[in-house]
Amino acid sequence: MAGHGELNERLRSLPAVDRVIAELGGTAPPTALTAAARRAIDEARSAIRAGGPAPSLEELAGRAKNHLWQRDRTFLQPVINATGVLIHTNLGRVPLGDEQVEAVRKVAAGYSNLEYDVATGKRGTRYAHATRLICELTGAEAALVVNNNAAAVLLTLSALSAGKEVIISRGELVEIGGEFRIPDVMAASGTKVVEVGTTNRTHLADYERAITPNTAAILKVHPSNYRVVGFTAAVPARDVARLALGRHICFVHDLGSGLIEDPGFAVDEPLVRSAFEDGADLVTFSGDKLLGGPQAGIVAGRAKLIDKLAHHPLLRALRPDKMTLAALEATLDLHLRGQATSLPLWHMASTSLEELEGRATGLARALEKQLGQGTKVEVTPLSSVAGGGSLPGLELPSFGLTISDGERSSAELQRRLRYGTPPVIGRVEEDSLFLDLRTVPPDQDATLLEQVARALKD
Ligand SMILES: *Cc1c(COP(=O)(O)O)cnc(C)c1O
Repeated sequence: MAGHGELNERLRSLPAVDRVIAELGGTAPPTALTAAARRAIDEARSAIRAGGPAPSLEELAGRAKNHLWQRDRTFLQPVINATGVLIHTNLGRVPLGDEQVEAVRKVAAGYSNLEYDVATGKRGTRYAHATRLICELTGAEAALVVNNNAAAVLLTLSALSAGKEVIISRGELVEIGGEFRIPDVMAASGTKVVEVGTTNRTHLADYERAITPNTAAILKVHPSNYRVVGFTAAVPARDVARLALGRHICFVHDLGSGLIEDPGFAVDEPLVRSAFEDGADLVTFSGDKLLGGPQAGIVAGRAKLIDKLAHHPLLRALRPDKMTLAALEATLDLHLRGQATSLPLWHMASTSLEELEGRATGLARALEKQLGQGTKVEVTPLSSVAGGGSLPGLELPSFGLTISDGERSSAELQRRLRYGTPPVIGRVEEDSLFLDLRTVPPDQDATLLEQVARALKD
């Protein structure tokens, strides 16, 4: 144990912040340099108090550099998604294509007619922009765009049923993602939640019995991220709609993904158009799930109801910005012109197995030449999933690489890949690291190769 005097001596020997900064160099903003240097010195001080030696100036600068590096890592930045999860909420849901990005660039880089009617020279509304295209695509009378689908559900219930009752099947009181729980959103809107049926079975009579003079609506929620299997019963939307119509209450259908047309891979997902044919008064869905666009929430349906939503004060707090609207319009326009296959999501989903296997083989060959003895890279059949609360149970056959290393665990390999620029995110399962190529655009293959080779070296 160091004596008191010796301890103070060591503490006093620590350099001033300015000296650590001078040693650090680099291009980070002054406040970040100061914070990193200060943190390194504070840590050294604690270590000395715990009996450790005083670090050299170089050591302190090294630690400060590490803090700066970690700060850089927190910036919003591109990553390579090699998880095979197509709609990856944690990795930004879906990528946008050239047309979508160009639409954003044009509107963001200058002034626009966001709330200006160019035809009349008068004040316009931002809600006019994407909504006409939504109506053309889905057959809805009217529509409204907000920040995300959670906001769409919240606004709908706030405007239609605050202080009133909304009936929902217990089988649909779901949690979607970490923070979105249907019963919580319903409660936040001021709606009284009336649960009917059981987790696995709900019948039309359950809904019927629950209707009171205070009932505003029946809400149906599409099981986006789960399946109830076995002894189950759910009431078809068509029957719920007929009941709601007869009793003069609204039928709201939260579709989640909101499929515009059948892409050939999305089994069992309801089309927005069919939800209307089945009698929904309003439907809600996301912009960045199977639609393949930016984060947004869409409410569409009867003009009279949409008008109510449009006049609700909450709308001002949920309104989308011009970049979202620009990207959404471009997305809807591609769907309208029958060019949805050029959306990155659809393109990735429909890439052929042969193509994926070919790319995997090419990458494996290139890697083998660069790697040491202990490392193995194998071309492996995999299965990609839709993700993002879409198409539970759907698996698309895929191809990718399995990477294993005699000396390093798969978690360690994944860590090394995460530390690259750009970070590569794979899938760790049973001590193997899988890199699924379905979610990696071919033009990122060279970068992927570079990053994997770097992560596996030494
Ligand atoms: C995903 C989803 C939501 C939430 O949508 P966000 O756009 O993520 O806010 C709500 N309901 C259902 C059924 C969903 O699948």
